[in-house]
Amino acid sequence: MEARGEMRLRTARRGWWVVLAAVILPVAGCSASGAGAASPTVTSPSHVSPASPSASPSPSPSPSPSPVPTAGTPGATVPVYYRVPVTKPVAFITIDDGYSRAESSIALVKSRKVPVSLFLISHVAADDPAYFRRMQAAGAVVEAHTLDHAEMKRMPYPRQRQEICGSADKLAQLVGKRPTLFRPPFGDFDGTTLQAAHDCGMKAVIHWRATVDNGIVRYQSPTKKLKAGDIVLMHFRPSFTADLNAALAAIQSAGLTPALLEDYA
Ligand SMILES: [Zn+2]
Repeated sequence: MEARGEMRLRTARRGWWVVLAAVILPVAGCSASGAGAASPTVTSPSHVSPASPSASPSPSPSPSPSPVPTAGTPGATVPVYYRVPVTKPVAFITIDDGYSRAESSIALVKSRKVPVSLFLISHVAADDPAYFRRMQAAGAVVEAHTLDHAEMKRMPYPRQRQEICGSADKLAQLVGKRPTLFRPPFGDFDGTTLQAAHDCGMKAVIHWRATVDNGIVRYQSPTKKLKAGDIVLMHFRPSFTADLNAALAAIQSAGLTPALLEDYA
């Protein structure tokens, strides 16, 4: 009986806290950031404290987790592959971004048992992680392609690092496996990209030798033929089926077999 009485008292106290919080917190949220007032993180102390008028220039160390280094590991780099050095007659199919997501694409990858690597924009993958998990179940491997398709070249190290580490971490959350390869948007990169890729745990930066769009293969070599180790780039577009079939036909007509990039790079 007493226990129940005590519980009622606690519930009543908690009730007051809820009322108090409901009155105070929206005010703190609004003054901290008008646009972000609807954010569910409004109760976070880090959001509330900037609203305090007593905030003087305090040199106290911030408790923020893992500060982003301003410079990368000196001399660190990773290889950049347009063509992977291989001894076997294989070529690699890579599929970028993740905007167009047809169920028929999953069925095609599954039925033809095509090894493919998906370089996903993590913000786009977050729109439909179940789709990419089904792709994964069909044999695809998910790799990193930045948070939001930023142009990497000439960006400072902390930003480049954020794009690579941030997207890899996010994709790990979404599909349960952290990427080990990185493709910079537009294929644009610089020395800082290679350093940041290394520091984020990437094994290589992946470029390409041929692209496919609307069922047409465009070669970057004058021979107009794939060679062993070549990387083919296509995208999640409405022409997915035509593009994948064209990539497979190009690989086969060059006397090659599609293989999984992660087994070689
Ligand atoms: Zn892209």
